[in-house]
Amino acid sequence: MSAACAGCGSPLRPPGAFVFRTPVGDVSKCTTCALAHGRMIRRSLLTVLVVGTALVLLNQGNVILSGSWQPDLYWKVPLTYCVPFMVATWGALANGRR
Ligand SMILES: [Zn+2]
Repeated sequence: MSAACAGCGSPLRPPGAFVFRTPVGDVSKCTTCALAHGRMIRRSLLTVLVVGTALVLLNQGNVILSGSWQPDLYWKVPLTYCVPFMVATWGALANGRR
């Protein structure tokens, strides 16, 4: 592949090249620029909002709704929100890898 990264202009060499579908067409990015791809990040954050909230309610809902906030929730809740972000981002990167 002799294309250049759409983000920074560096030459793209597989397997460190990712293709993203955008409204203006497909764009190829290097690993660093792919990790900061705005549309992918926004989609992952939307997934976090929906799936993360569902997971927190499923796993900790009884404790939260009872009003007895436990100190371990300060790390469990953020970690629960991290999981769907990592899965969504990993899936998008794996799907766009070239
Ligand atoms: Zn780049």
